[in-house]
Amino acid sequence: MQTNTAEQGKEQGKQHTVVIVGGGAAGISVAASLHKRDSTLDIAIIEPAHSHHYQPGWTMVGGGIFKPETTSKPMASVMPGFASWYKQTVCSVDELNNQVTLADGSVIGYQALVLAPGVELNWAGIDGLKEALGSNGVTSNYQEGMASYTWKMVQSLKTGRALFSQPPMPIKCAGAPQKAMYLSADYWLRNGALKNIDIQFHNAGAVLFGVPDYVPALQSYIEKYGVELNYQNNLVSVNGPSHKATFRRTKATRAAWFLKAKQLPGLYWHVMLKGHEWMAKPARRSV
Ligand SMILES: Cc1cc2nc3c(=O)[nH]c(=O)nc-3n(C[C@H](O)[C@H](O)[C@H](O)COP(=O)(O)OP(=O)(O)OC[C@H]3O[C@@H](n4cnc5c(N)ncnc54)[C@H](O)[C@@H]3O)c2cc1C
Repeated sequence: MQTNTAEQGKEQGKQHTVVIVGGGAAGISVAASLHKRDSTLDIAIIEPAHSHHYQPGWTMVGGGIFKPETTSKPMASVMPGFASWYKQTVCSVDELNNQVTLADGSVIGYQALVLAPGVELNWAGIDGLKEALGSNGVTSNYQEGMASYTWKMVQSLKTGRALFSQPPMPIKCAGAPQKAMYLSADYWLRNGALKNIDIQFHNAGAVLFGVPDYVPALQSYIEKYGVELNYQNNLVSVNGPSHKATFRRTKATRAAWFLKAKQLPGLYWHVMLKGHEWMAKPARRSV
């Protein structure tokens, strides 16, 4: 696909009808949808990344179904040709004057602004997690490039305890933590290891899945794989070398909190999310 890459170098006074911040699944879908409705629209996409990732595929990589390389494409190959592409990061939004400022100081004007920068992964939200990730059996399919390590661990775990955890909302995909668990459990079942593995699911939420219609089917897999369910159990810290995870348990009232620690030979973890800081400030938003 041919892309109308905007001139690199500092831009001043450039103006587009629609400016889209972020060229992920959301930004590119919005651009395509707008263009389909009105092909005369002057659309710009501001996106600094060189690669575009198909993130749902990372679950499949963690389950040994997809090769990691099938989940990423060069950004240039997915950027629509009708859009002007600024390979830059947006640092601030001046909504009073309808303009955004880019990392190199360029200022781009818009009539309509679409913010689609995704969400930031809040690794620091769980004590010790950042340091623990990628070794000692601590992994996350949410981390770019780490699903291969998940798959390696799934194959090597023959006995012991495997923890799968899901943080409170918002998370990127409400199904991803459970999908990782079912794919792993199925591998262990097919390879005769399941009877030797204590699988636990620790969900910060109070139910197996937020859409009741799906729960009976999911429950049947919980029983099939012998998964121990733990609701309202939130991972608060991880110690990789000692293979320990600490959960904070809360009842619906949020009145009673208590901590408990678990020993784990194999650990899968979840991720907490946060919004972009540059979007959090009112009026003239900046980092
Ligand atoms: C492991 C996993 C499994 C998933 N499974 C599913 C599934 O089965 N089904 C489903 O529907 N969804 C699933 N999802 C969720 C889905 O992948 C995301 O919802 C989707 O990718 C979000 O797209 P997005 O464009 O909003 O954000 P992203 O894909 O994160 O894209 C945001 C883009 O904005 C850019 N950006 C960020 N900040 C700036 C800035 N300041 N200036 C300019 N650009 C910026 C980034 O570089 C990035 O390219 C899964 C996600 C994960 C991680």
